[in-house]
Amino acid sequence: MIISRKTFLRLTGISFVAAGVERLSGGLATAGPRRWAMTIDIPKCSEVAGCTECVKACHSVHNVPGFKDDAHQVNWIWKDSFERAFPSEHNDYQATPYKSRPVLLLCNHCDNPPCVRVCPTRATWKREDGIVMMDYHRCIGCRYCMAACPYGSRGFNWSDPRPHIARLNPDYPTRTKGVVEKCNFCEERLARELAPACVEACPKKAMAFGDLNDPGSSVRALLGSRYDIRRKPELGTKPEVFYLV
Ligand code: SF4
Repeated sequence: MIISRKTFLRLTGISFVAAGVERLSGGLATAGPRRWAMTIDIPKCSEVAGCTECVKACHSVHNVPGFKDDAHQVNWIWKDSFERAFPSEHNDYQATPYKSRPVLLLCNHCDNPPCVRVCPTRATWKREDGIVMMDYHRCIGCRYCMAACPYGSRGFNWSDPRPHIARLNPDYPTRTKGVVEKCNFCEERLARELAPACVEACPKKAMAFGDLNDPGSSVRALLGSRYDIRRKPELGTKPEVFYLV
């Protein structure tokens, strides 16, 4: 039986819904180039004390190693205090609970990424849809990108990461010693019209992900109705991760 492209897309959409899998707002209907972005609602994210569901989901899907030595830890997504995440956004009179409030951090997929400019082998580059990618095979481990990133978003494998992966996901590649890695905005899931693993895992739905070029997307709705801040805007990197405060 031959089915048309339109019918195929309709059937595919139905199967996603039937499977209970979260699909991206805008979905297949969005025309033109996309520009992916994320919003993180800080008050909502802090509602469940000590929650790390998003971190567990991301690290498990992407085979992120769990090195014992903190100095060599590799993180695609992690939490740090508001004070450290936003050094220019607090003052001496702010109450301690606000300064120490945990904030979720990841690669900002900057619109003007310094990490991309310094890579000598083009192992990291920016896609048309805004995702800052990594080619693990092209990476020579010079770590210029790590020095250039003002957010500490990249990790380096000082030793073989494979023995340190808790449970191997055979659907995602592992890395090797001497290679840099970081968040990829779940580009492998986006290719299947699925939201990033962290967004899906959040019990409070504190994160939204979508296309900034789509006026009907959830991220556009949130950015149009809430006040947001971005990390170190004075550097001109133009992060695509927006924090709702
Ligand atoms: Fe590059 Fe760092 Fe910006 Fe990510 S957060 S795009 S690693 S400069």
